[in-house]
Amino acid sequence: MNHDDLAHWSKIAADWARDYHNSLRDRPVRPDVAPGDVSAQLPDTPPEAADPLTEIFADFERIVPGATTHWQHPRFFAYFPANASPASMLAEQLANAIAGQAMLWQTAPAANEIEAVMIHWLTKALGLPDTFTGTIHDSATTATLSAILTMRERALEFNGNTAGLSASPRLRIYASAQTHSSVDKAVRIAGIGQENLVKVPTRDDYGMGPEALSAAILADITAGYTPAGVVLCTGGTSIGACDPLAACIKIAKAHNLMTHVDAAWAGSAMICEEFRPLWEGVEAADSVVFNPHKWLGVQFDCAVQFMPDPTNQIRTLGLRPEYLKTQGQDEIVNYNEWTVPLGRRFRALKIWFTLRAYGLDGLRTRIRNHVAWAQEAREEIGALEGFTLPTEQRLSLFTFAYKSDAETAELLDKINRDGRIYLTQTTHEDRFVIRVQVGQFDCTRDDVMMIPKVLKELTEGAVS
Ligand code: PLP
Repeated sequence: MNHDDLAHWSKIAADWARDYHNSLRDRPVRPDVAPGDVSAQLPDTPPEAADPLTEIFADFERIVPGATTHWQHPRFFAYFPANASPASMLAEQLANAIAGQAMLWQTAPAANEIEAVMIHWLTKALGLPDTFTGTIHDSATTATLSAILTMRERALEFNGNTAGLSASPRLRIYASAQTHSSVDKAVRIAGIGQENLVKVPTRDDYGMGPEALSAAILADITAGYTPAGVVLCTGGTSIGACDPLAACIKIAKAHNLMTHVDAAWAGSAMICEEFRPLWEGVEAADSVVFNPHKWLGVQFDCAVQFMPDPTNQIRTLGLRPEYLKTQGQDEIVNYNEWTVPLGRRFRALKIWFTLRAYGLDGLRTRIRNHVAWAQEAREEIGALEGFTLPTEQRLSLFTFAYKSDAETAELLDKINRDGRIYLTQTTHEDRFVIRVQVGQFDCTRDDVMMIPKVLKELTEGAVS
């Protein structure tokens, strides 16, 4: 296969992509396959001789779409979305065509400088101080890991401890139980240890209690631990909990602790001014992450981390062996020094295309519609017999339960076997509840109102 063949097949692939996306409403969101069904269709050994592209493409069509969970399905209401607007898909194709590697300014000047400008555009779009700088990671998990590694190094190495954890007191990181498991993973990878992640009690609204945070830090200092940082959330994964950032950051700062805000999902909504009270005080944070790939329409993967001052993160993650040295390296930004991996994809291009192709106004309309339609669907579900609404709606996320835990789980199974919509579960206050998030880029009000319709149909006649 050469580049002429690539051009030919790219046109076929583009037509296939359009037809695939147009067909999604007629497909079940999740495929009807069992573990092993796909691998059973693949030969045990790779081919010795080249296969013709016609055969490869035919096998793709035969095996893949029918065994795919359709994340771009307009009735995908599970987890959080991983949206891919057509404009971002086009940009991704172009970035793939260039196939560069943006570890240094000189290895990808355009990617490097568009990244810097996109970070700047996004600070303005989200209402963050436009003095914030930042970088693009693959995922929020990596951004949070980078922040926690920086907390660790700031607490140890920058204080003269070059032996790291082996010669250190026990570090402590603070977060509420509503933060994502990526925080647990980061403290584990950072060698801090999961038992040193202090889960600070929350208030009635499931946001971290500032007094509880203060008490936990003081108790740890008395017990001889070294507090290193606080991770806060805006829009927790389970029920959308939001920590009171201003009060918690103030306490962290009083103890000279670094703060990181995980707004992986909810951050996109901050392009709408009316939602910004949810992260009031964010401008005082040392690090903030949000995923444009969740709710802004920028194709997976794309996680943006903002920092008022990247110095500590660069001291933590940056290395300059001889083979990576470049001219003028002290005046330019080489983003590999801000991130865990050395190699970096050209992710900024799809942000650029998305923001330009839809405009902030177009993106705001989508997010506002999602929130309003979620509210309508929630009200209809609350009026159905046997259903309860255990948590408040946060942005476009809410939960419901049906009679007992067992019956809720049984209903979830029925919903997903039915296939018209896709929902997933969480536990809240020891109850099994079903989450609904509305956020798919192309969903309509009718798609969202399919949720109460399906629930009604599946439970009709079942309420005693
Ligand atoms: N933080 C929150 C609040 C999330 O909801 C998620 C994933 O859904 C993550 C972090 C992890 O995101 P990623 O898949 O980008 O690592």
